[in-house]
Amino acid sequence: MQKLYNFGPHKLCENQVFYKSKFCIGLVNLKPITPGHVMVIPRRIVPRFAEMTSDEATDMILSAQTIGKVIEKEFDATSLTMAMQDGPQAGQTVPHVHMHIIPRKAGDWANNDDIYDELDGKQAAGVKRVDNDERKPRSIDEMKEEAEKLRPFFNQHED
Ligand code: AMP
Repeated sequence: MQKLYNFGPHKLCENQVFYKSKFCIGLVNLKPITPGHVMVIPRRIVPRFAEMTSDEATDMILSAQTIGKVIEKEFDATSLTMAMQDGPQAGQTVPHVHMHIIPRKAGDWANNDDIYDELDGKQAAGVKRVDNDERKPRSIDEMKEEAEKLRPFFNQHED
């Protein structure tokens, strides 16, 4: 039986998880805004950033560093956007703390900071990544393939 992980109300199967630390996991995104758009979340369902314990918060930041280094290299990027929408009025749609880690390269968005509108689902306002099609949910197989590619780059903590 596959182990399931919580992402707010969603149940994630192991296939989507590419990174495991003591307090956090790294998961591939159902609707990435660019290839390599992943997230790091605490294992425990915690809605807001300030509600994490010190252990969880520390682990999350250190995990974001570790994951970011690999994502930048493996997706041929030269920078990273690391972002968190903390609370519904800030655009948080899943009530479980998550940091977005997104590989960036020169010219990927026509206006660099438009990525924040896209992250907030405001594509309709004319914001568009230069070479992006409409965002649609990926299949389990697509997500599994990406997670399998990333998993070997990390030491995996036991569940
Ligand atoms: P936010 O708008 O900051 O709350 O971001 C929520 C993110 O979670 C978006 O990037 C979604 O594509 C992503 N997402 C929602 N449901 C799932 C899921 N079941 N598995 C992976 N990513 C998800």
